[in-house]
Amino acid sequence: MAAVRIGIIGAGSAIFSMRLVSDICKTDSLMGSEVVLMDIDENRLNAVSFLAQRISDEFDAKIRFSTTTQVDEAISNSDFVINSALVGGHAFLERMRKIGEKHGYQRGIDTQEFNMVSDYYTLTNWNQLSYFLEIAQKMENNGAKNPWLLQAANPVFEGTTLIHRQTNTNMVGFCHGHHEVRHLADAIGIPMSQIDWQVAGVNHGIWLNRFEKDGENLYPKLEEYFNSRKEWHPKDPPDDQLSPVAWDLYSFYGMFPIGDTQRNSSWKYHYNLETKKKWYGAPWGGFDSDLGWKWYQDKVYTIAKTLQEMMKMIMEQASATKDLSVKAFINENINQFPEDIRDQVNQIFDHSRLSGEQHIPFIDAIANNNPTRLVVNTMNSMGKDETEVVIQGLPNDCACEFPAIVDGRGIHPEVLAPKLTERIIKWYLMPRIMRMEWALEAFIKKDRSLIVEFLMRDRRTTSYEQAKAVVEEIFENNG
Ligand code: NAD
Repeated sequence: MAAVRIGIIGAGSAIFSMRLVSDICKTDSLMGSEVVLMDIDENRLNAVSFLAQRISDEFDAKIRFSTTTQVDEAISNSDFVINSALVGGHAFLERMRKIGEKHGYQRGIDTQEFNMVSDYYTLTNWNQLSYFLEIAQKMENNGAKNPWLLQAANPVFEGTTLIHRQTNTNMVGFCHGHHEVRHLADAIGIPMSQIDWQVAGVNHGIWLNRFEKDGENLYPKLEEYFNSRKEWHPKDPPDDQLSPVAWDLYSFYGMFPIGDTQRNSSWKYHYNLETKKKWYGAPWGGFDSDLGWKWYQDKVYTIAKTLQEMMKMIMEQASATKDLSVKAFINENINQFPEDIRDQVNQIFDHSRLSGEQHIPFIDAIANNNPTRLVVNTMNSMGKDETEVVIQGLPNDCACEFPAIVDGRGIHPEVLAPKLTERIIKWYLMPRIMRMEWALEAFIKKDRSLIVEFLMRDRRTTSYEQAKAVVEEIFENNG
């Protein structure tokens, strides 16, 4: 059992904050650890810190939480630093998107073939990439022995590649997209626990290369499911693992796309709302339509607001009831929270349920030498020996996503069998990698003309002047 020091940067994140802090409190082998919560937004920070300490006390986890607005304090002497900060916030992303739309780029210029995810900015959020580097550089000499940087904030693909190339920091990127494999298991009625699966690719571009039970390939069962079903309707915008787009991508590329990969498809599925509805289902047309993204933003806002309200309610109640059980209090008052996030609220206070995020299991695996299977983003050069790569056919010096066993000695990638199809390598992953290289070079050289040139290959561009004007206006406004 190891007590470690963990810094969380962007600790007010609507998506990550409570999931991470509650996972720490539920991991008995990290009992006694110290967690430094860092954010520039003090309101968010105070709410998370208050709730985190209550959870720790209630679970008797003996975790010490402290808060800071200084990034150095979160990094200094920390064994693990998690970065979930979004520099500029969602408001910045929306401002850049609006400028793009004014110039004829619907959903903004960062929306690109193989990267349609609406908060995954690779071209215009240079501040975010600079922050990634600043944190990684500070970790090189932070005073801890062999510290690890865990990247949650997007873009994970560009960020992981950039940090590995430019610093010596131990670093790994995480995404929760691979959990969507379970929808395919549900569709064919086989429990996930009985399925032998692998995914591989790059972040938000991962493919199900293995899907077996007791040595039997389950793909024919998936085909049976898709061929025999009559109708399909999404329950919400992110619900696309069983959508027509997933089936169509499989039919073309030869393996199933997993998680955010469905979103990161080509223009074929994204020309306009009607096209999106056809492939991702009505009424939203998927996660990354105007309607789908508004649904998500409302949810992010609701979660952030609910944390503040929860803190207020618990504070008031705690001053009236000396031995307040927060879990019991939340159970009694759960109906006061918006219906669509009640399960998330319950999960936070339920000791038996981890969030599914991989950051804390990774820390436990390294700190306590507790071998754990995770899906990681790290360099492709980590093959079995120095001449080997994990994903054959892809360059060795870019970040890839694949399953690995993590333990006290580090990350040990699994051998991928079967290999990804040639079509996935050549016509999905290589074009995506080329776009990553393009974005990183523009960022490193601070060369806007590379972004203009990028846009000359964009189907929405009708003139050189249009591309030049949008890039100029974006960079005049993104300080
Ligand atoms: P959010 O705006 O709710 O949270 C981001 C937090 O970062 C805010 O609390 C903000 O105050 C803070 N912040 C901004 N600038 C900062 C700075 N300089 N230093 C420290 N903190 C700072 O955003 P969110 O929706 O929670 O998303 C956070 C990030 O996580 C985004 O990059 C998003 O794309 C990414 N994300 C990743 C995954 C994944 O699986 N890897 C999934 C969802 C979201």
